[in-house]
Amino acid sequence: MTFRHLRTKLTVLYAGLFALVLLVITGVVYSAIVGNATKVVRGELAASGTVFDRIWALRTAQLENGAGLLSRDFGFRAAVATHDGATIQSALENLRVRLGLDTAFMIGVDGSIIAAGDAGQVHNLTPAALAGLQPDDASSGVVIMNGAPYQAVAVPVLAPAPVGWVVFAARLDQAQMKSLEQLSAIPLDASILYRTSPGAWRDGALGDHARDQTRTSRFVETALKSGVASPVAMDDAAGKSIGLVKPLDAVDQSAPAVLVLRYPLARALAPYRLLLGALVLIGFAGLGLLIVGSWALARGVTRPISALEEAARRLQEGETVSVVAETHDEIARLADRFNSMAAEIGQRQRRITHMAMHDADTDLPNRQSLEREIAALAQQAGEDHVFVAAIGVDRFNHVRGAIGHALFGELIKALGRRVGQFSNEVRTARLSTSTLGAAFEAADLGAATQLIERLCSAMEQPLRLGCNTVDVSLSAGLASLAEHAEIVASAIDRATIGLDQARESRRRSAVFDSERYGDPASNLSLMSEMRSSIDAGHMLLHHQPKFDLRARAVVGTEALVRWTHPTRGFLVPDLFIGMAEETGHIRALTEWVLQQAIADQRAMAAIGQAQAVSVNISGRLLSDPEFADVALALVEGADGQICFEITETAVIENPELALAIIARFAGAGIQVSIDDYGTGLSSLAYLKQIRANELKIDKSFVFALNDSQRDALLVRSTIDLAHSLGLKVTAEGVETETALALLTGMGCDLAQGYLIAKPMPINQLLSFLSHEDGAAKSVG
Ligand code: C2E
Ligand code: CA
Ligand code: CA
Repeated sequence: MTFRHLRTKLTVLYAGLFALVLLVITGVVYSAIVGNATKVVRGELAASGTVFDRIWALRTAQLENGAGLLSRDFGFRAAVATHDGATIQSALENLRVRLGLDTAFMIGVDGSIIAAGDAGQVHNLTPAALAGLQPDDASSGVVIMNGAPYQAVAVPVLAPAPVGWVVFAARLDQAQMKSLEQLSAIPLDASILYRTSPGAWRDGALGDHARDQTRTSRFVETALKSGVASPVAMDDAAGKSIGLVKPLDAVDQSAPAVLVLRYPLARALAPYRLLLGALVLIGFAGLGLLIVGSWALARGVTRPISALEEAARRLQEGETVSVVAETHDEIARLADRFNSMAAEIGQRQRRITHMAMHDADTDLPNRQSLEREIAALAQQAGEDHVFVAAIGVDRFNHVRGAIGHALFGELIKALGRRVGQFSNEVRTARLSTSTLGAAFEAADLGAATQLIERLCSAMEQPLRLGCNTVDVSLSAGLASLAEHAEIVASAIDRATIGLDQARESRRRSAVFDSERYGDPASNLSLMSEMRSSIDAGHMLLHHQPKFDLRARAVVGTEALVRWTHPTRGFLVPDLFIGMAEETGHIRALTEWVLQQAIADQRAMAAIGQAQAVSVNISGRLLSDPEFADVALALVEGADGQICFEITETAVIENPELALAIIARFAGAGIQVSIDDYGTGLSSLAYLKQIRANELKIDKSFVFALNDSQRDALLVRSTIDLAHSLGLKVTAEGVETETALALLTGMGCDLAQGYLIAKPMPINQLLSFLSHEDGAAKSVG
């Protein structure tokens, strides 16, 4: 059998065992009682049988005495001899009354009867009864007269030959039996049974109205057959009882009689009934108590187990659980173990979750964590108002090389902390070694850009790490959660691409530009087309004039490449310069630009405009001596001044080789200009080593001139620093009169920007230069 609950199982088990034990005890007690009672009854029955034998013998002797006395009486014999009926009868009657008998009569040898007393019965004497009488001796025993048993004695009357018998008989009726029953110590039933036909016995006292005697007859028969005069168990119409069957002498041998003494079992067990009842009652009460008790006990045992089971289930579902143990036993200890196990699991879980959500190095939240935050923000504010930024440490390889890996981790950690200090509305995470992510809510892209610019400024404050102060410069890429998800699914990835785009265009921050990003696959195909595009003449050179602030005249131009792609149209360099650098096409492109620039310079000279021409030289090419050979050979054929614009980052990446090549350029009379000054980690030490002639202040500083005191200060000190190193200073990105005035006031040498002129094709440039004087007057 299976149980769903332990408590049911325990209860059923206990109750079952107890009931079994109780049953066995009751059975044993009952059979002991019955056995004992039976033994007592058997003894009593045997004793009563003996008493009855005595009474029987006594009565027989009494009857014999009386009958003998009469049979020997001379007068009586004379009356018999003379057939004096009246005398005989009176003598019989006389003695019968004196002896208190039921019947006394005289039977002649001829069968004639003279009776006294219960005379009516006598005439029904069976011939067999008469046949049993002895001629010369007294006979005694049971005689059945008219269906009723009598104890009778017959004594022959000798004159001197037998002439008849004197018979004295006492009825064996119910009254007789009663007096016999009263003699016994136990209340038994006595009855005389005689055989009416073979196998059929009849209770003489009951007469014709006797109940069914068949079963009784069977007991009598078996008792007689076994011959042992000991009590037997009987079960007949009178009920279950123990009986003793005693055969009695019978005058008529064909009608034997027995005395049956019986003691009903029910009566024998009556004194014990109370005991048995009490036993059963106690048993049931005990069973009830046991069921209640073991139920309570089992509940007590199983409740903490159930509580543990429930707790284990909840633990499995990831809840934090604790079980309260009310006891001090094994279960309590188990509960304690369980609790500490659950606590450990919880701790481990939290550790794992923390590890899954944090960067091991800095313990800042990681990308996955930021993704969750973004999802939560989107839920809360709506996708349109959520923006994601990737903030990167510029030239991180250099910074890490300078301060070491461990401090770099500290640096990132400190930057992460600054995000929190800036605003706790901005969620941050570490996205890569040198990049932090930020997610925040803003009204629109403009507000988001402003926020990220301010955040970067706040983060760029000089940092104290150990005993060093570190200056960092940051760039940021921004992406709106709602836009361009079809191009790059993850906003974090879009922001990271935005960061790359910001760096490519040398801007402090840039919003992810899907057009610029293009389709990576088609961008790749662009590269395969570059070589043929150069050969097919799809490349075009634009020039942007450089304006001398003191001479108030255009003194040079910067050559800027354009790609007129047959299918994609006019492409700006930001889209393909980076890739050309990555794929190695930059060398062929630059060689073409240099060639074209020299040709254009010649065209300018031809109209009397001798202008210096600046060409951008990618950092990559500064570690390529073969390029240097080609470039030097080309420049040798130039008519005018050629200037190479290089970024200082390019120098820092492979300083020895780069500085050597720059020295070769300088040695060949090429002017060297340091481009995009201020966007990287500027180092005076490098500036000194580069044999440069010019410093170009990056346009991001120039743009900020109008509204930032700090940037104005920076530009001014840069100009002073450059001058002290013997460098001319060019400011790029001059778009406003204010900027131009400020720069002039600061002593800046040259200006370049949309205010003066946008980059333009050579034809346009030639006409621009022709009208230069007019243009120059209008500027400043
Ligand atoms: P750069 O060397 O810093 O060039 C100046 C960029 O600033 C040019 O963008 C120019 O159009 C832009 N600019 C000039 N004045 C202003 C202004 O007042 N306001 C604004 N907003 N922008 C102004 P462009 O032509 O798109 O070139 C982008 C970059 O591509 C250049 O930055 C340069 O790094 C690179 N590049 C262009 N041509 C070449 C090339 O032939 N070789 C190499 N290696 N790089 C090139
Ligand atoms: Ca440039
Ligand atoms: Ca520049």
